[in-house]
Amino acid sequence: MTIGKVLLVGAGPGDPDLLTMKAARAIADAEVAVYDRLVPDDILRLIPPEAIRINVGKQAGHHPIPQQEINRMLIRAAQAGRCVVRLKGGDPFIFGRGCEEAAELARCGIPFEVIPGITAAQGCAASARVPLTHRGLATGVRYVTGHCRADEPLDLDWASLADPTTTLVLYMGLANIDEIVRELIAHGLPGDTPALAISQGTTAREQKVSAPLVALPAAVRGAQLPGPVLFIIGRVVALAAGATDHEHTTITRVAEVA
Ligand code: SAH
Repeated sequence: MTIGKVLLVGAGPGDPDLLTMKAARAIADAEVAVYDRLVPDDILRLIPPEAIRINVGKQAGHHPIPQQEINRMLIRAAQAGRCVVRLKGGDPFIFGRGCEEAAELARCGIPFEVIPGITAAQGCAASARVPLTHRGLATGVRYVTGHCRADEPLDLDWASLADPTTTLVLYMGLANIDEIVRELIAHGLPGDTPALAISQGTTAREQKVSAPLVALPAAVRGAQLPGPVLFIIGRVVALAAGATDHEHTTITRVAEVA
């Protein structure tokens, strides 16, 4: 039997229209689709009805399928000759463990391809009309994870992150936002640096909370934002069209704006 292949596909930040054409074609041709919790229903609907679907995402109250088990699934399906689509939120290689899967596929001699996706930083920034870099305000942008293993302190280089000329995009930062903001300010980032939290960015359920950095944790708690939440911290946030007041906390829900 000829061996199949695995496509590691970025599903983008949520809005199905932000899939690349290559990703949309791959999904439409899938014989087996293995997907995470972050991939929205609107995109899952594009999987052909006859394809085998496997949800490997964390569900409330259930443990996620261990990475090794996911790797085995992908390999077995490809060895059975199938075209396997491994769908991941955003881009598979940005905080997506795509590289671990790719390495295992390579080790087992399974043909695979990586199809990039629009990462949450790009999708959310565009949706909030925030330029992640801007002449005179931000000479660069950093994507940082705000997540750490249970009971371990965040292991981030705070001194280098507290740089007012670099935009900071925080993935997986909701649970640790108090500590993150405290450390950034302690390491010299001004407390009045404009900051933005975006929940379920690019979807119809998108909500945004903007506040000066020092007030961000309380503002986010007050708004009870559901995940996934992305944080953008930096002077560029003040450029967000339609959100000119960055000295105070503002909460915007899509329904209110529309
Ligand atoms: N590979 C993904 C990131 C996975 S890590 C990507 O490239 O986007 C999961 C984190 O991504 C979440 O905790 C959140 O911080 C962010 N995220 C993903 N989709 C998001 C969305 N639609 N809105 C806000 N944050 C999002």
